[in-house]
Amino acid sequence: MSERILEIENLTVNFDGFKALNNLNFHLNKGELRVIIGPNGAGKTTFLDVITGKVQPTEGRVLFKGKNIKNKKEYSIARMGIGRKFQTPRVYLNLTVRENLDLVTNKNKNVISTLFSKPEKGDKNIVLSLLETIGLTPKADLQAALLSHGEKQRLEIGMLVAQSPDLLLVDEPVAGLTDEETENVGNLLIALAESHSIIVIEHDMEFVRQIANQVTVLHQGSVLCEGIMDEVQNDPRVIEVYLGQETSFDTEEIVIIRIVASIAWADFNLTSQEQEIIINQLSAEFADNPDHEEQIKEELVNFLAESISLEELVPQLENEESKIKALRLSYQLIKEHDKNDLENDYFQELIRLLNLPSETVNSILDEGKDHEKWTMDNK
Ligand code: ADP
Ligand code: MG
Repeated sequence: MSERILEIENLTVNFDGFKALNNLNFHLNKGELRVIIGPNGAGKTTFLDVITGKVQPTEGRVLFKGKNIKNKKEYSIARMGIGRKFQTPRVYLNLTVRENLDLVTNKNKNVISTLFSKPEKGDKNIVLSLLETIGLTPKADLQAALLSHGEKQRLEIGMLVAQSPDLLLVDEPVAGLTDEETENVGNLLIALAESHSIIVIEHDMEFVRQIANQVTVLHQGSVLCEGIMDEVQNDPRVIEVYLGQETSFDTEEIVIIRIVASIAWADFNLTSQEQEIIINQLSAEFADNPDHEEQIKEELVNFLAESISLEELVPQLENEESKIKALRLSYQLIKEHDKNDLENDYFQELIRLLNLPSETVNSILDEGKDHEKWTMDNK
């Protein structure tokens, strides 16, 4: 069994009768990178507050490296090896990038001695390798105030790592970052995960997909579900808490809908024509009656908002019937509008990934052709 760095048992935090955390159970293995997601108010920040000793639990316990942290002060928990990165960067803006790192690496941790004493050789190497890790070597002598928001985030992650914590807690590291910076921060966390245990709290789903292996979903102070990102993002319970409304679809149907949507998104552009075709086609397919059809049209719009890669989606279809349905609906979409090369390529990719018997594929494509002929004849 892997060694557990963090174990949380039956944790409840009661704020004047309101349970921000409610009988929560959680564990993290040494060396794991875990992302915690959940809608606003789910208890994510409170969860970190308990682990760092800022908030005391009403019930339950937190074991870090097997030790109960009950009644320990924040600084002693930090000294035990838990480092936390807050949402807004806390770097010294008037110091350079290198000086900021020197400051935390330097044994006499204070600003004056960092500025006026020469750093030790060992520390210097640590700083150089940290600069490399966070991708800021070219900006080492730049004042931190001149960094972009994303670079400041990376610098602060570097400062946290300089304190060599065993467990890194990172709260929403990519809020407000550009796409490129988001990816940089993601790559940095993935690199750090090779030698650290990390918990990341995050809202940005695209980012979660980039970095996440195991995901824990919090809802109303408890763990709603846990699993790899692919499973979690198509779980109707997760979709329900994110959208704030129940969904009419089961996991298998959600995956089918997302496959069709990703075909339409293949050219990075979902036109209103495509959107209309998909919504009409899918609502007719999945509705039990005309009233229901109207209702699920609204729901479908939510699923079209994002594009997920076929490699992630297709393996999740469990039965052949669903695969056939995914292919048939995707083919209808391709046929019914002015498709382009990218969409065609993506459709071929879908056929390959579905790995259906060729007779089955041909019969779906032929069926489509007949239908096409039929509509032409009747015009
Ligand atoms: P998240 O980070 O997932 O958005 P939080 O942990 O910040 O959620 O908050 C969970 C719930 O607990 C929210 O409903 C919030 O209003 C409530 N809460 C958080 N801190 C306090 C507090 N100090 N006193 C009372 N209620 C609080
Ligand atoms: Mg929060």
